[in-house]
Amino acid sequence: MSDSNQFKLAGVMGMPVFQSRSPMLHNYWIKKYNVKGAYGHFPVQIDDVEAAVRGLSALGMCGCNITHPHKIKAMQQMDVLSPLAQRVGAINCIVVQADGSLHGFNHDGFGYIQSLKDVNPHWRADAGPIVVLGAGGAARAVLISLIDEGAQEIRLINRTRDKADELASVNTQVVKTYTWDERHAALEGAAMLVNTTNQGMYDQPPLDIRLDALPTSALVSDLVYIPLETPLLATARQRGHVTVNGLGMLLNQAIPAFESWFGVRPEVTDELRQSILATF
Ligand code: NAP
Repeated sequence: MSDSNQFKLAGVMGMPVFQSRSPMLHNYWIKKYNVKGAYGHFPVQIDDVEAAVRGLSALGMCGCNITHPHKIKAMQQMDVLSPLAQRVGAINCIVVQADGSLHGFNHDGFGYIQSLKDVNPHWRADAGPIVVLGAGGAARAVLISLIDEGAQEIRLINRTRDKADELASVNTQVVKTYTWDERHAALEGAAMLVNTTNQGMYDQPPLDIRLDALPTSALVSDLVYIPLETPLLATARQRGHVTVNGLGMLLNQAIPAFESWFGVRPEVTDELRQSILATF
């Protein structure tokens, strides 16, 4: 990707995928930084992931994002995986190298941590116990990024306990699991609460949790971004907590991807945030 005059094509593969704001985000930066390129939606059926990913190089594309439900299947097609993607066990970004080989990355954790620092530049993972609710794909990236940032104690709670126990094996010194029934009491003394479940999303019921035991100094974050303020975040705001919604994670995970494809490190500005917000 060294020729700055070459037209570069990237996109996002998923199914469904037309709801993704990634094309709007990357095309905004393409225009802003005067890059010769374009970014599109690529709806790909699960049985076609291998052919679609392998076709990136033949099509002359510089890479693509991978979204639900292809993050694991696409990973299996990579020639090289970043160490972080290996630990997370999923990719959200492919970079086609000059020799046509495919390198896989996972930038979800970077996006998540940056979204916290955007709201509080002094945020630290070792400020106290962190309660993580959920043990799906997003939880894995978030949990590993919190550990890498220096978290000392993570209380991991999932409706299906087995999945939490399996995820906790990434670092059993730091991560302790609790039952779903223990979620309210596990908030005692916590410095932060993260919702990585889908509860509170526009098509789901609110997350069922009582915040009484959570110190009001605790930061409350939700990966959900539709709606921007979930019932959890609304309750937390009313109690006086600093809150962080999922939009910042979505925007920030795109920074390293754009840089590796188009050679410019882009910025998440208020103008960009507003233009994406206007589409919700
Ligand atoms: P996933 O792999 O399907 O995991 C779903 C999680 O939600 C599991 O932990 C599941 O628990 C839990 N859950 C589902 N129904 C529940 C219920 N009724 N009560 C309690 N827990 C329930 O999904 P994912 O990919 O991790 O995504 C999770 C959320 O993160 C989604 O809302 C997604 O939109 C959001 N997300 C946001 C970003 C961003 O950039 N902001 C990025 C990725 C994901 P069980 O294991 O018990 O089923």
